[in-house]
Parts: sequence; C-alpha cells; structure tokens
Amino acid sequence: MKADVATPISSRVIERLPLRSGTRRAFTLIELLVVLAIIAVLASIMLPALGRSKSQAHIATCLNNYRQLQVAWQMYVDDFERRFPFNNLGLGVGEREDDPNWVAGMLSRQDQWLDNTNTYKLVHACGGIGIYLKDPQVFKCPSDRSTTFIGPRRYPRVRSVTMNLFVGTQTAGKLSTLRWYHSTSDLLAGLPVDNGFVFIDTHEDSISPGVYRYPSDEYWNDFPASHHNGGATFSFTDGHVACHIWRDERTKQPVRKKELYGVKQPGNNDMRWIQERATAPKKKFDP
Ligand SMILES: [Zn+2]
Repeated sequence: MKADVATPISSRVIERLPLRSGTRRAFTLIELLVVLAIIAVLASIMLPALGRSKSQAHIATCLNNYRQLQVAWQMYVDDFERRFPFNNLGLGVGEREDDPNWVAGMLSRQDQWLDNTNTYKLVHACGGIGIYLKDPQVFKCPSDRSTTFIGPRRYPRVRSVTMNLFVGTQTAGKLSTLRWYHSTSDLLAGLPVDNGFVFIDTHEDSISPGVYRYPSDEYWNDFPASHHNGGATFSFTDGHVACHIWRDERTKQPVRKKELYGVKQPGNNDMRWIQERATAPKKKFDP
C-alpha cells in the first residue's frame, strides 16, 4: 500500500488561492468611500470630545494659577502687617522703589510694545507679589492666545490677570460712597459678596495696567475674559478660586486686537455680579 505523503500546509494554501496572473487586489471606489465616511464619522465624534477635554484642562490650569496668585497676595499681606499690595494706575508703577505696585508692565494692543513680552516686570516688580511666585506663567491664562510683534517676530503676550480696583488702589476717586480696601481691617468693616474678589481673568482687548476697572453706570470699563466655556476665573480675599460663567451673551466679546473700553450695555446683570463682589456700599457713619 502506497503511503500517504503529507502535503506541506504552505503548499495547500497556495493551491486554494485564485490564480490571477497579471492582476493586483485593490480597493474599489465604493470601499474607499466607505472607509472615508467611517473616518469622517469617527472624527466628528472625537474632535468635540478632544476640544472639551482641552478646554477643561485650560480651566484647571487657570484655577491653579489663580490659587498661586492668591496665596502670593496673602503672603505679602502677612509679611507687611496686614496691608494689601499696592494696585495703582499709571505708566511705570512697580518700576521704582518709591512707586511700588503688585505688578509692573502695561500691556498694549500695539506691536513693538516691549511690556507685552516682558516677564521680568511680572516677577520683579518693586513692591510686587512676584517674590512669592517666581514663575511668570501664572500671570497668563492658557486660553489667552494674544500675541504681539517685537521686531519681525511674533511672541505671546505675558499677562491676562488684573486686580480689583477696590483692593489696594490708593486713589479713591469719585466713588466715595463705596468701600475701598487697603488692609484686612477694611475687610472686617464690611465685606462684598463672596468676601470680594482680588484677581480677575481679563479680556485680551481690555487689559492694560494691573488694575481691573469696575463696571459702572451700565458701562463696561474693562471686560472680563470669557474663554472658559463663556466664563472667567476669579480669586477671592478668603483664598477660594472659581470660574464664573457669564449669563449675558453681550459679556462674551470676541478678541479683535482693538481696544475694548467704555461699552454701554443696559440691563446686563453680569455687571451687577462683578459689582457686588468688587466692593460694598459704605454705611452712614463709615469714614
Ligand atoms: Zn483663564
């Protein structure tokens, strides 16, 4: 009896393959379109999710920045006998020992303006809180995409944060019916809602000095930022931080790289939200 000779597996496989000499297996047009359609569907599902997670990461970073700024502010207050760091308007504040300020450097929409990119003035301002921070990154919101030209090259601007006008500002101006806070004893006399905010995430087209100017008489003097799901980050005198979402669509201004000051918006309750947390009215016998 003739013994079976085992055929090698590789040979058997080869035998079953159709022989198409001179032809190559390729995608048909229909198969290609189906693959492209699947990729498009997957992209439409994934991209918004990726965008949301990036946006959440920016909020977390911004909140962490404000926590650090607020701790630095509190350390300054502890080191200077409960007095708040100065928060003054004017060109050159924080650049001389006799003109101290919490931060130095005035931002501008104009190119070739050196303060726009000067991180040294953030952390080394005379009388500033930078000595407790060291890292200039905390002054910049990760969602602030503003840039500027210095020479032929484009650079990111370095600051998004300003400080509440009523905290540390030395000139009371015309708003004397409202409280001005220069030390912890002023806070004890009468607090704003939520204990009052110190730092605010500010709109790229409104930011200039380190002071955030209070909205009054239905005018925005400075717009807050709105790049965190339509909201801005704040820190408060008691140390807590929060991202507040604006309710009025008019508060959410696009960035145009043009000055954005003095805009009248009657009936905008977001202004009231800021006003209540910026200061409180004086009582009859207050100094
Ligand atoms: Zn931010």
